[in-house]
Amino acid sequence: MPGKVFLVGAGPGDPELLTLKALRVLKSADVVLHDALIGPEILALIPRNAISENVGKRCGMKSARQQDINQSLINYARLDLQVVRLKGGDPLIFGRCGEEIEALRQAGIDFDIVPGITAALGAAASAHIPLTHRDIASSLVILTSHRAKDGGPDSWPTPLPKNSTLVIYMPGQDYESVAQKLVDNGIATDTACAIVSQATSPEESVHVTTIERLAASPKLPTPNLLVVGAVAELADHRSLIAIAEEQDFFSQEYPHEGIEEQAKWQSK
Ligand code: SAH
Repeated sequence: MPGKVFLVGAGPGDPELLTLKALRVLKSADVVLHDALIGPEILALIPRNAISENVGKRCGMKSARQQDINQSLINYARLDLQVVRLKGGDPLIFGRCGEEIEALRQAGIDFDIVPGITAALGAAASAHIPLTHRDIASSLVILTSHRAKDGGPDSWPTPLPKNSTLVIYMPGQDYESVAQKLVDNGIATDTACAIVSQATSPEESVHVTTIERLAASPKLPTPNLLVVGAVAELADHRSLIAIAEEQDFFSQEYPHEGIEEQAKWQSK
């Protein structure tokens, strides 16, 4: 069989959110080059005799350079191997897939793309946030507040669209500058927003607030993303978290687990 590369989305974290196609491709891989964010349960699906390399950033270690990753994909495929490039979420959303596609095309390597559930969709589902809503949000905009070091486009549409849900990837923990950027681009300070951290994993936590109060929010662990717009108010446990904020009851995170306990405690 001639070599082939599969650019595969692993979904947002929960291994059950891997597609059947991703699972099939992964199980027949000779080589897997994966991102650092891929969890152990998904990595465990890689065949034992396959070569598996982490090419992402982890624990302060430098990630492999994109050019080197492109070259490895080409080299392995030229050895007639089935090569999987496994990425978090969907490979075509902030996944640098464009560069890999270009390199593979130039090298004349056959490739397929297997979509995955992007973080925005995983986070929305597990936090119970409808990203569009007949009455309050008729469009969805995916943005990043992370600036490409090598001079990629950084600008957001100005002003940002009204009656729209914005999902901001890679907000990091500098909520203050994200809030400022949103306000600079026309978002009202009383707009609702939700930070969803480690979405779809057992460690997931959600914090609902407003743009005005975002800077004072607890620094939830990465990976996290920010959902901005009226729909964010519909997130689960909204009322309890709002009460907790007012009473300054929790100092740090608001994990889903335990919220009912906390509610019982509060009603005493
Ligand atoms: N291709 C990926 C995105 C890669 S960029 C996708 O489609 O999801 C990495 C960013 O995605 C993180 O900084 C974070 O903003 C977001 N992200 C990835 N996994 C996440 C998760 N489980 N919970 C919240 N955000 C996540």
